[in-house]
Amino acid sequence: MAVYEYEHIGSPCALGKIFEITQSMSDQPLTRCPECSGPVKKLISRTSINVTKSNSELRDLGFTKLVKRDDGVYENVTRRKGESRYMERDKPETMPDLSKTIRD
Ligand SMILES: [Zn+2]
Repeated sequence: MAVYEYEHIGSPCALGKIFEITQSMSDQPLTRCPECSGPVKKLISRTSINVTKSNSELRDLGFTKLVKRDDGVYENVTRRKGESRYMERDKPETMPDLSKTIRD
C-alpha cells in the first residue's frame, strides 16, 4: 500500500483541497473524491522521494549523495564538475560545493 495525494479540481470538501488516500499500487487512480464525488487529480506524491533513484538522477535533481567509505571519508557519488571524489572529515576543501549546487 502507498499513500497518494489528490487535489480537488473544483471546490474542496470536508477532506480539504488536497487530501491523502491509501491505495494499493495496482489500484487505478481516483478521478472522483470518495467524500463528495467531485473531480480530483492525482498529485505527484511527496512519498515518491523515497523511491530509490540512481545517482545520476539524484544529481540531476540537485541532490548530493555521500557514501561512507572509511572512517571520516565519504565518496561523493553525485559529484559535479570541480568537486572532489572523496570528502574527508578534516579537509574542508574536499566538501561538495553546495552553494554552487543551490545556485544551479
Ligand atoms: Zn471531496
